Amino acid sequence: MLNVTLKPGKEKPVLMGHPWIFAGAIARLSGKGAAGELCKVLSTKGEILGTGYYNDHSAITIRMLSSGKSFFGVPQLEARITHAVQYRKNTVDVLTDSCRLINSEGDFLPGLIVDKFSDGLVIQIGTAGMELFRNQILEILVKVCSPGFIYERSDTESRLREGLGEKEGLLYGVLPEPLIVRENDLKFLADIGSGQKTGFFFDQRNNRALLKHYSINRKVCDCFSYSGGFTVNALAGGAEGVDAVDVSKNAIDWVQQNIKLNFSGVQNVNFFNADVFKFLREIDQNKYDLIILDPPKFAKHQGEVERASRGYKDINLVALKKVASDGIIFTFSCSNAVDIKLFRQIVFAAAADSGRSVQVLHTLTAGTDHPVNIAHKEGEYLKGLVLRVI
Ligand code: SAH
Repeated sequence: MLNVTLKPGKEKPVLMGHPWIFAGAIARLSGKGAAGELCKVLSTKGEILGTGYYNDHSAITIRMLSSGKSFFGVPQLEARITHAVQYRKNTVDVLTDSCRLINSEGDFLPGLIVDKFSDGLVIQIGTAGMELFRNQILEILVKVCSPGFIYERSDTESRLREGLGEKEGLLYGVLPEPLIVRENDLKFLADIGSGQKTGFFFDQRNNRALLKHYSINRKVCDCFSYSGGFTVNALAGGAEGVDAVDVSKNAIDWVQQNIKLNFSGVQNVNFFNADVFKFLREIDQNKYDLIILDPPKFAKHQGEVERASRGYKDINLVALKKVASDGIIFTFSCSNAVDIKLFRQIVFAAAADSGRSVQVLHTLTAGTDHPVNIAHKEGEYLKGLVLRVI
């Protein structure tokens, strides 16, 4: 096996359990190192730190799979997949039939994401290292989950950075048409072929349920609505009215379908195919007493954090100024590069500039089906705050 020796001091994060090793930490290799090849990682003193996979196409040259002398192979892959799937048994119940089953680094399987959509699976293989286990992953998933279908959505930017092409399509079974997922007893059409990420954002499940409780008798604005996860919950929670705003026409059509799927004859909802930045500036103050801000990732990497921070400050400031007295704001960021500390700073700066008195009611994260390896803070991508604006 390829041996990779680290530079002095660079073993510390690995010993703490961080799964990433960057090119700058590597002193030497025992061979050439093919893309995705398994490797043994050694400290400068020759101590075995663990097994990982190597790819010098990627800025993250090694992703760790196991620590110390324990090897990582197909039996370990099967054990981890089985363990991850069993752990989700508490997430899936009669009210919720869909969730994240494997959360990449968070489930100690870097480069592998598997989401359960009703009785089927959507998989995303993001790295050359995981790509080498493709056939075994599929066999194990069929054995452990007995899925109705497996659909691949490996069309991420991370794959391009790994030197891999995009892969998409049905790998196993039959895709139901339409595909409907159940979340907290509400139904949603899942568009796994062309939707974002794997087709539905399961990470907001608990936060949507919380929003439902805040919606009663409120005038709600769901900014960046996508397929209407928050809109449908607001309606189910007894909102006086809901406006869904998204720049994508497809998203707006999709929200309308999801509303029809859950309710008949709903009158108190409006759709705006618009840019949120512009939309919020143009509305009258007090129009809404609950505003949701769930924008796309503004910062894809560290270099974009400053620009992203301005974007977050901008929308939060307008929402804070415009929301009615004693109003509520659910505000989120899904940028890995903007951590919760920075996100708080941005939102607090916007609160100060708004001249309103603001309280924090909740700090939110992704649900428990998106576990995070404690040593890998980059995995903590979704963060949110619920604010009361007096
Ligand atoms: N809240 C959603 C997820 C939002 S994803 C859920 O719970 O599932 C982000 C959405 O923002 C996408 O649908 C995208 O079309 C939309 N979007 C991106 N930029 C926008 C903008 N400037 N104005 C309005 N919508 C935007």
